[in-house]
Amino acid sequence: MLDLGKSLEGHRASGRARLAERSPSEWHDRDVAELAGRARTVKGEPLPQKRTFGSTFPFDNMGQLDGIDASAGANGSVVSGAYGGFSNVWGAQIMPFSEPTFDDWPCSFNHMEPHYRRVLEEVPLAAEADDLEAMFPLIHATSPPPSPSERTTDVVSRGKRNRARLQRHGVTVGSARLALRARDCVRCGLCMTGCPYELIYSSSHTFDRLRRTKRVSYHDGLLVIGVAQQGDTCHVRAREVPTGQVVEFHADRVYLACGAIGTTRLVLASMAAPPRRVELLESIQFGLPFLSRHPTADPRTQDNHTLNQFNLVVDVTGFGKDLVQVHCYPYNPAFSDSLPPPLRSRPLEPVHRRIRQRVTVGLGYLPSWASPKVILDHEPGGDGLPSIRVSGQDANNLPMLRQALRALRRVGPVIDLWPVPSQSFVSGPAKSYHFGGSFPHAIRRGPLVTDQLGRLPEWDRIHLTDASVFPTVPATTFTLTVMANAHRIAQGSLCAG
Ligand SMILES: Cc1cc2nc3c(=O)[nH]c(=O)nc-3n(C[C@H](O)[C@H](O)[C@H](O)COP(=O)(O)OP(=O)(O)OC[C@H]3O[C@@H](n4cnc5c(N)ncnc54)[C@H](O)[C@@H]3O)c2cc1C
Ligand code: SF4
Repeated sequence: MLDLGKSLEGHRASGRARLAERSPSEWHDRDVAELAGRARTVKGEPLPQKRTFGSTFPFDNMGQLDGIDASAGANGSVVSGAYGGFSNVWGAQIMPFSEPTFDDWPCSFNHMEPHYRRVLEEVPLAAEADDLEAMFPLIHATSPPPSPSERTTDVVSRGKRNRARLQRHGVTVGSARLALRARDCVRCGLCMTGCPYELIYSSSHTFDRLRRTKRVSYHDGLLVIGVAQQGDTCHVRAREVPTGQVVEFHADRVYLACGAIGTTRLVLASMAAPPRRVELLESIQFGLPFLSRHPTADPRTQDNHTLNQFNLVVDVTGFGKDLVQVHCYPYNPAFSDSLPPPLRSRPLEPVHRRIRQRVTVGLGYLPSWASPKVILDHEPGGDGLPSIRVSGQDANNLPMLRQALRALRRVGPVIDLWPVPSQSFVSGPAKSYHFGGSFPHAIRRGPLVTDQLGRLPEWDRIHLTDASVFPTVPATTFTLTVMANAHRIAQGSLCAG
């Protein structure tokens, strides 16, 4: 495995280990303050960039971001250079795609199911059997999620009691599904800034094990800048990050997994006649706060985990495919940071408290077929990765978002969760981190189309294995399918001869 491989800085890793050795009541305030540093909201940016143990390392530039430029409002931090990639900082929400989603794929849900299962034997899944199961089978859950907040319990139980009324509007409520070792969770609330006990799955956990047991030979500090195939031999060119020296590797087969935009750029660098513009599919993100009529206890006095706690899924057309998903989060201190300063002042503390007792924040997603595309314009040339500019199509007209909001407004009184559309926002291009489909799978390869094993016409031993090969990007969380599809490709390639 060739990787850039940036890791958590040594002093932060030692601080994390100190916390992990103790229970929260024994933690030193200094350690907590250093490791639980929250990202600051930037003016004009609806969401701050997350931190892990106070570090930006999953987003840091190890050379992979050189030459990536983003138009106003678009995301320029689209390729990770970290050991474990963006799974160091993700929200750990995992679900398979619904069965009808695969109508637009060259393989079916049944074909994918054993690969989901295999991945879930590696990745812990904390989930409940609930109404979401009809659309998203559990496959291999290992434990229920940690006990939820008072608000979550209330909304989920109202949802169960009023199932038929919700379903008339196409809405399903269900618990979060998390890649989490939930049994060991002590509900210390630090999830959004990094779990000291490493209970939230990161792919680095799997690689630590594979390296320890010598199942992979791992080379870090390498920026891969080109791939090629001559006869049956694959060639990989990489630049050593510390020295800038270019080195070459040979292999029987190559599997590219730099994240959808990282892989797209590497392929553009390696194609004989790359297109100047590539469009990617994105499941665009939106933010939507909710208020409840009935207050809960002040959440600052409660012990809670702060990952996603429950999901609202809106089936806009009723066929299990046009699904809009909203992940709902209980209060965490970042909410207070995002309030206007006057509302945070001491005299307005009673108002602030009343908001805390009633607010839930939703982060929602539309499927790629109802979202604007991400555009990558690239400038070939130079001995390395091409310069690319990230921009997006116009996001002003999103009919599926309007339909979903209408349904959520209608069910608001039933589950005591009233959307506040005036405070909603739509994130800029590529900010959802749910993007892909630059070289989508199809039955037959084409100039920018991969076969079912992720191969472009010019190579038959170089496989694209991440979301760059997705035919669609639905609104339901997608990394479980990235992993399952990569497993399917790898397994299939072993039989390909
Ligand atoms: C804040 C945040 C929250 C998220 N929450 C969720 C969630 O709750 N659920 C969900 O499903 N998804 C979520 N995602 C998306 C999820 O993290 C990604 O889908 C997932 O990490 C993609 O995995 P990947 O292996 O394809 O790529 P990445 O995680 O991006 O990993 C890329 C790897 O390739 C290496 N690399 C890149 N370029 C090169 C190069 N040129 N040479 C050598 N090595 C290279 C990197 O070092 C890294 O190891 C979230 C993302 C973010 C940022
Ligand atoms: S609440 Fe979050 S950070 Fe704390 S132990 Fe549980 S998963 Fe880890």
